[in-house]
Amino acid sequence: MQDDTISGIRSFESAGDYVRRMVQPEQITKYLPPGGHFIDEAAINSALKTAAAHPNDVAQVRAIIAKSRAIETLTLAETATLLYVTDPELRAEMEEAALAIKRAVYDNRIVTFAPLYTSNLCVNRCAYCGFKADNTQQVRRKLSMAEIRNEALVLAGRLGHKRLIAVYGEHPDTSTEYIAETIQTVYATQTKSRTGATLGIRRVNVNAAPLPVEDLRVLKSVGIGTFQVFQETYHRETYQRLHPAGTVKGHYDWRTTCMHRSLEAGADDVGLGVLFGLYDWRFEVLAVLAHSRDLEAQFGIGPHTISFPRMEPASGTDVPTSSPYRVSDDDFQKIMTVTRLAVPYTGMIVTCRETAAVRDRAVLKAGVTQMDASSNIAIGGYKEFAMESQQEMHRQQFVLADTRSLEELIRDLGKMGIITSFCTAGYRCGRTGGCIMDALKTGKEGKFCKVNAVLTFREWLDDFASPETRAICDPVLERELKAIASELPLFYPAVKESYDKIVAGERDLFF
Ligand code: SAM
Ligand code: SF4
Repeated sequence: MQDDTISGIRSFESAGDYVRRMVQPEQITKYLPPGGHFIDEAAINSALKTAAAHPNDVAQVRAIIAKSRAIETLTLAETATLLYVTDPELRAEMEEAALAIKRAVYDNRIVTFAPLYTSNLCVNRCAYCGFKADNTQQVRRKLSMAEIRNEALVLAGRLGHKRLIAVYGEHPDTSTEYIAETIQTVYATQTKSRTGATLGIRRVNVNAAPLPVEDLRVLKSVGIGTFQVFQETYHRETYQRLHPAGTVKGHYDWRTTCMHRSLEAGADDVGLGVLFGLYDWRFEVLAVLAHSRDLEAQFGIGPHTISFPRMEPASGTDVPTSSPYRVSDDDFQKIMTVTRLAVPYTGMIVTCRETAAVRDRAVLKAGVTQMDASSNIAIGGYKEFAMESQQEMHRQQFVLADTRSLEELIRDLGKMGIITSFCTAGYRCGRTGGCIMDALKTGKEGKFCKVNAVLTFREWLDDFASPETRAICDPVLERELKAIASELPLFYPAVKESYDKIVAGERDLFF
């Protein structure tokens, strides 16, 4: 019965067959402990209960912060203790430590990217999402390869992006072959800057539905960056209520195990996330931690990134505005600060769903490492809208709050003394997965980050910045270059040589 009610399935395959084709039970069970689960709800609830009974224990909180500063992943109990801190002085100490850890691991820089929404075709019916199959108000569309190319031209040529997160609904028409072709099309698209330099997207990350291990190998072979899948909620009962049975997404464990499959496939930069606002945020923070710890235990690699999407209004649903679990700005800030302390090596992403004020605070007090900018999440929106900030409710998944252009974001970060990095060296030099984990934990990656951030920022300023932006950002960049000279004196001559080549017009030099 359910089979015929899901729209969008090709006529020769019922919805039930599609679910059976996608969800492969043996690719779930092999990653779960016998008779149990790495998301152990009883253990999470017990850790929360214990911590709630003894909030603001100064000595205990300080000892936990010291462990984070040593770049060690925290336990559930330690993280729960931090989640219940309300004392303003202790919270300030946690925020100070979060920023110090971010600087030690990732240096003084923010990586920027843009979302590329390729399609809003979807067979699932997630209660909170504008793309859900039963939302008749949504104008459905999938980009052709020519349209993908046009989007990439605007993103790389006009806006100056080097990294994308390509986003997909779940549908047979946007299968793994489509995803692979879009990645290849983006990498093949090149244009010229005002200085005559060759411009193109250098890293394509993907946010898509969970895939079988064979399909993940295909994405690895075409050069996927990070494979990102948000669990939405780790609370099983809530998950089942919001994701109807009979849909692929209704399979909780097809989703919880997808990063295990990704690591098995060798696509080893994996990104986790929770859609905050669906269930109790403290539970969700501990669950992401449990997920991260299990990946570390099984593969020696934790999440490359953790994202913090917070639910926004969307077409055809009132769940985002009526949920009893909506998260306040202050709690949202705490979620990010505690995550930085709990999983100190991970990259942290806060998107344009949030206001500029919330995002700026996340940078300064939670140690966030990645932000998008100039984002347009309408399908085909970059090419079609002259103004990148324009939004159309029924052509996109939800509504954005921060509509700053990339240049505005870069200028605002520059005013805070932070450089913007377009570095994509990591995966191109094989510094991914377990290899990069070690480098992050020992602070070595931060040195590469600093050098590559300086080189790629120089490129961007020369290719795209207005005189006003250069006036703000050039001094920040020069200060970073001086820091390399004093912190890495043996390395500096090679860096300076590359820097001078970039000033003279060469591009894409990295360490
Ligand atoms: N369709 C794939 C899937 O569900 O896994 C790809 C992801 S979807 C296009 C990207 C993410 O947007 C979802 O995983 C969800 O966390 C988030 N999202 C969905 N509805 C949202 C809303 N109303 N506000 C904010 N984020 C939302
Ligand atoms: Fe489809 Fe993803 Fe939206 Fe769910 S969250 S309806 S799977 S696009």
